Amino acid sequence: MKKALRPLLILLLLAGHQWAFAQIDRGQLLADLKTLSSDEYGGRQTGENELARTYLLDALSEFISSYPTMVDTFGFLNRLRKQYTGHNITVTVPGTKYPDRYIVLSAHYDHVGTRDGVVYNGADDNASGTCALLALARHYRNNPPKHSIIFAFFDAEEMGLKGADRFVEDPPVDRDKILLNINMDMVSRNPDRTINICGQYDFPELAKFLKKAKKKTDLTVTQMHEGPEYTGANNWTMSSDHGMFLKRGIPYLYFGVEDHPGYHQPSDDFSEINPDFYYEVVQFVKETTNVFDKKLRGKSLR
Ligand SMILES: [Zn+2]
Repeated sequence: MKKALRPLLILLLLAGHQWAFAQIDRGQLLADLKTLSSDEYGGRQTGENELARTYLLDALSEFISSYPTMVDTFGFLNRLRKQYTGHNITVTVPGTKYPDRYIVLSAHYDHVGTRDGVVYNGADDNASGTCALLALARHYRNNPPKHSIIFAFFDAEEMGLKGADRFVEDPPVDRDKILLNINMDMVSRNPDRTINICGQYDFPELAKFLKKAKKKTDLTVTQMHEGPEYTGANNWTMSSDHGMFLKRGIPYLYFGVEDHPGYHQPSDDFSEINPDFYYEVVQFVKETTNVFDKKLRGKSLR
């Protein structure tokens, strides 16, 4: 090679390295999902999901030396007034420009457990959101955001959004400094390649940010299941952890697929998810987070 070309080659290599750093690791994402939704994990019901929590804490342990990671243990009564103990896990990646303003990315890691010896693996609900959250935590560790990002792995969603309720009731940071919640619940299974987003009905100012993010994906993005035309179970405003943020007036976006035949069935298995679609959704959530991180400039949308 001519000597004069060497700097060019080095630049190209550096650019390639940067590009690789900015990508979500697809192989790791799918391996995490396969593990968390295997029978060994027993369906991850609150009170019996210690193995899942250990898996997450092991994966997050690479953060512990540099960023605060914590397990918050809390008691609550379920719908039948039975006492349970839940455990939320949060890890914060500090922002470079607005470290005291927060975006909360969230997913619940619990599911409905084992019934009559049959394991409800909950691959889509919600090992998919959990592993997406883990992938995003790894991503932002390598690519520090401007705003601090709290990665919240909530417990006890299936028992009535209890982990999220606990978090928003007594957050680890000043609640007024939480600018946005982005919640993922069921993001891996849809042969139609369609992902639905809720949040713009209650917080219309989110729309202009999402418009920019949508340009970065080939997925079909819908805005359904919110507003007065959706009633009962068809309205998803309170259907997952984002509902607890809404209750306290914190803007939220909820990413999720349409209900499918595997919803809360033993057939919600790893073999039924759509890996390409799942990977694209995770990248879309990353792009969406990036738009907010770039454009919010530390300001509240409330
Ligand atoms: Zn769920």
